[in-house]
Amino acid sequence: MPNDLTIQKDDLPKPQEGKPNFYWSMFIMKCPRCRKGPMFTERNAWNLKKTMKMPEKCPECGQPYELEVGFWYGTGYISYGLSFLLSVFTLIAWWLTIGISTEDNRFFWWMGSNAVLLVFLQPWLMRFSRVVYLYIFVKYDPNYKRSGVTTFDYATEDYYRKKDK
Ligand SMILES: [Zn+2]
Repeated sequence: MPNDLTIQKDDLPKPQEGKPNFYWSMFIMKCPRCRKGPMFTERNAWNLKKTMKMPEKCPECGQPYELEVGFWYGTGYISYGLSFLLSVFTLIAWWLTIGISTEDNRFFWWMGSNAVLLVFLQPWLMRFSRVVYLYIFVKYDPNYKRSGVTTFDYATEDYYRKKDK
């Protein structure tokens, strides 16, 4: 009698060829191309001497991080945008929990607390802005081991992906 309980190895569901989650990879600041290599040398963003220290290229897939000279210039705007969104969020949270009134100083307490929070988060925000910015230009590539990296083409002034390594 054949044993029906014998499961062929091939029948078992294969573990998903892991494509790391987009938002999570951004949050933990991984390289946009392979989503494995770290974008910053030092894990702790609050180690202020090394906050913005990045490897020249991704240690995992070789993707250069600073695509052209002055590439990070645009991150200032992203940092402003993130700070603004965060302030809107804390204002709503403050309004819902503590409340805001014209008869006391609660609004000014929010302003102070929000300012302290933004200053505290600044190292992290500066890093995260670079991550967001690079994610705009460099897309995830499941074949990162074989295909070429994304670079800046000075001739056409465009970002393109090299066909081969
Ligand atoms: Zn990479």
